[in-house]
Amino acid sequence: MRLTRSLIPTLKETPAEAQIASHRLMLRAGLVRQTAAGIYAWLPAGLRVLRNIGQVVREEQDAIGCQEVLMPTLQPADLWRQSGRYDAYGPEMLRVKDRHERDLLYGPTNEEMITDLLRQSVKSYRELPQMLYHIQWKFRDEVRPRFGVMRGREFLMKDAYSFDLDYAGAVLSYRRMMLAYMRTFQRLGVKAIPMVADTGPIGGDLSHEFIILAPTGESGVFFDAGFEEIDWLAADFDASKPEDLERFFTQMTSLYAATDEKHDAAAWAKVPADRRREGRGIEVGHIFYFGRKYSEPMGLTVAGPDGAQIIPEMGSYGIGVSRLVGAVIEASHDEAGIIWPDSIAPFRAAILNLKQGDATTGAICETLYAKLGANALYDDRDERAGVKFNDADLMGHPWQIVVGPRGAANGKVELKRRAGGERVELSVEDALARVLGA
Ligand code: ATP
Ligand code: MG
Repeated sequence: MRLTRSLIPTLKETPAEAQIASHRLMLRAGLVRQTAAGIYAWLPAGLRVLRNIGQVVREEQDAIGCQEVLMPTLQPADLWRQSGRYDAYGPEMLRVKDRHERDLLYGPTNEEMITDLLRQSVKSYRELPQMLYHIQWKFRDEVRPRFGVMRGREFLMKDAYSFDLDYAGAVLSYRRMMLAYMRTFQRLGVKAIPMVADTGPIGGDLSHEFIILAPTGESGVFFDAGFEEIDWLAADFDASKPEDLERFFTQMTSLYAATDEKHDAAAWAKVPADRRREGRGIEVGHIFYFGRKYSEPMGLTVAGPDGAQIIPEMGSYGIGVSRLVGAVIEASHDEAGIIWPDSIAPFRAAILNLKQGDATTGAICETLYAKLGANALYDDRDERAGVKFNDADLMGHPWQIVVGPRGAANGKVELKRRAGGERVELSVEDALARVLGA
């Protein structure tokens, strides 16, 4: 995109309403604008990040055989009456009536709806297991929406649901999803650590929250350094093999990790001192096994091999896609602005023309822009170099290609890496090859 033709309204001043870095930077970099308390419009650069995160999530869900669907945002209240949650859910749920006075709600989550879909569609044990997900807007009327998109009222979530014939199957689905999450977060360029969470009346150890480390996080965390060392993308775990999933889960759960509410001083003392890590973190995902909590009251059954009815065992698996935009920024920024991981940056590179109107710099910028296409944001504004540098640092593009009159005269550009700040002078071709990762 050409910056002069884009709606990327960067701000020089720090917006007074923003208390934490990610919220300030999202407003200043022109990613989002608030339209009502906890409700945000995504502007072009912000939407690109949201889509990029969604795409990584999607690819890793698809890779474990989880199927994408798209359920509506509005749900009939009757489904929630069947599970018993309609009255229990409380004021976080937005309830509406249609013109026929029928009760609807804006979905805060989708267990009831997916259970209803399976109830209509599967009849036999041969059709299970099933895993399904969607990436859809949710509404929760949070008492205190804050920190920008991190605790919004309307937010984008990936939620997945598993249906198995028995507990052993549900355990496999759970572990498979957990492996997909470790891969997903690593691809997003963040360290997410799974921590045991409350399972409520169901009990057991099959509930984990995934926490990204950031100083402004809502919860305190304690964990073993092992989590920082494992490369989940390289690790040889085949998600389709039960023995691999078991090995993965054992490795994962043998490392200590807990939020401050669950912290166990005795177990912590057994972690070698040089391997103990403490910090604060932001919850970006939550996975949960809950057995027959919805299948039973809602009457989801399949016929077993002997004709007897089986009530499927379920789990649900969430990732806060829009929260992640803020959480990644919390984990990856400096005084000057955002530092986007390559995998989710809105643009791989910014092209900075330091002398707008100059024939030589203009020609080089046009060449770069033609080659990089949608990967680049071309700063073609008639602005001082300092303004362009500041905005590029603020917006956090992984690469900046700086085209000044002196270098341009020799066919050279300067390539800056946002993350480490290194700069090198290169030919146009070499700069392109670096940016495109050739
Ligand atoms: P929290 O404790 O932060 O309120 P939760 O336990 O209510 O989260 P889940 O119902 O497990 O969250 O939802 C799955 C994921 O959706 C969370 O891990 C989080 O990343 C995201 N999420 C939940 N509530 C919000 C919100 N108000 N704004 C943005 N993302 C949210
Ligand atoms: Mg909540």
